[in-house]
Amino acid sequence: MPGQNVGRRDFMRRAATGAAAGAAVGIVAPATASGAEDPASAKPDAQPADMALSDIPNFCGHEHWGSIMALGTVEEGFRADVLQGTLPVRGVTVWDLVLDPYGWGWLNSGGSDLGEKTQAAGKRDFFAWWNEDPARAFAAAKPLLERHRLTGVFRCTARGIQTLHGVDISSFDQDAWVAADRRVAEAYNDIHAWHPKAMAKAGFEGLVRAVHPEFYSRTDDARGAASEKGYLRTLMRIDPLTALWTKKNPRRDQLADMVHVDPVDAKTWREFIGRILDRARDGGAVGIKQLQAYHRPLDFQHRADGEVKFRGALSDEEKRSFEDWVVHECCKQAHDRKWPHQVHVGTNNLPQSSPLPLEALAKRYPGMPLVLLHCWPYLAESGYLAKLVPSIHIDTCWQAVLNPAFYGEAMRLWLGYVPQHKIMCAHDATSVEMAAGSALFVREMLAKEIAATGGGRDTGQALLHDNAARLYGGGH
Ligand SMILES: [Zn+2]
Repeated sequence: MPGQNVGRRDFMRRAATGAAAGAAVGIVAPATASGAEDPASAKPDAQPADMALSDIPNFCGHEHWGSIMALGTVEEGFRADVLQGTLPVRGVTVWDLVLDPYGWGWLNSGGSDLGEKTQAAGKRDFFAWWNEDPARAFAAAKPLLERHRLTGVFRCTARGIQTLHGVDISSFDQDAWVAADRRVAEAYNDIHAWHPKAMAKAGFEGLVRAVHPEFYSRTDDARGAASEKGYLRTLMRIDPLTALWTKKNPRRDQLADMVHVDPVDAKTWREFIGRILDRARDGGAVGIKQLQAYHRPLDFQHRADGEVKFRGALSDEEKRSFEDWVVHECCKQAHDRKWPHQVHVGTNNLPQSSPLPLEALAKRYPGMPLVLLHCWPYLAESGYLAKLVPSIHIDTCWQAVLNPAFYGEAMRLWLGYVPQHKIMCAHDATSVEMAAGSALFVREMLAKEIAATGGGRDTGQALLHDNAARLYGGGH
């Protein structure tokens, strides 16, 4: 969202409250579509016969599958990021995938207010409207959404739906949307069986999602949690910790109870962070992640213990100082554990989200691989850091979802400049469908740009799979 200055957290929240407008509960039983073709055995989207990289598995090192309204939200964020084994709170519709937080957010930021039309029709949210009266809901959404049909998010999701469910919604034919809806609902009847099945079909091998600290102690569905462990690795988000300074703070109190340390000063905060990271490690975490780029610059200063106030009524300067201290302490502990640390850069809060200040942080904690996410529009700056700082890596995730051409631009800039063990290609998608569509664009454009530089399959193997598998472990 260049120039919009909209933080992703606000953006997600707005999407949650806007798209949701009471989206909460049980609208419709998922369609059963008896006799319908098994979506996962449907023919994949036609792929160019000369696409040389289609058989190389793609390790998805940064995703948000499950950040859709049908899975619901809790105070800390999307339920899928707070509770293990999250199940949908209502039937999943094709619109949950298309009007995800990105699609819905950009519809609004682009000036198309589907929420207003929904309210004018007297419906509590668009998903309910679709279930109750598909013809009128479709007629309201179509002209607004068609304006976005060339943008990355719609193209990725539509292409993923075609690949995984065998229906082309990009024609904006209502019958196609009804057919896609039925297949999506059926697949998501068992979301934790659907994810691995869809991953196999999309050629994904390895999935990493960032979750909240509470995820390692809370479960929605035990059976779902057991299945999820079979296909998901996690990173723990550290940005929630930077908000735990207020005098009264129920979230801090809960975490303190969980790890038996109440953080009040530098000593107890170090212990608190250490125990939370231990708990995350015991729950399978393979690193940490943060998205402060969306509301502050990334020049995290090193602060001495004595100059930081850890609790109370903090001024803006004191808050900044506390945030800096927490980020440095998390980085120090990640460095000791040799854990990767994903940091969002660019895409929002421009021009405050430049990655350049991260060079100092990376050099201070060299044992912590630092992964710059998205990088657009700071493609040159990110490539420069990856080339010149041993621990800095770059991930193209979200580029294709913004605009597939951004990914092509990144490859043109980076392949001839950055060594190939530094570049990774995740998708930052809110559903496996969006990721599958993004991956098709990525594979095609990567093949083209590799050919243009005279490279071979080894480069595709490194970027699509090996680099992320090495960093996040496993990789089968
Ligand atoms: Zn992300």
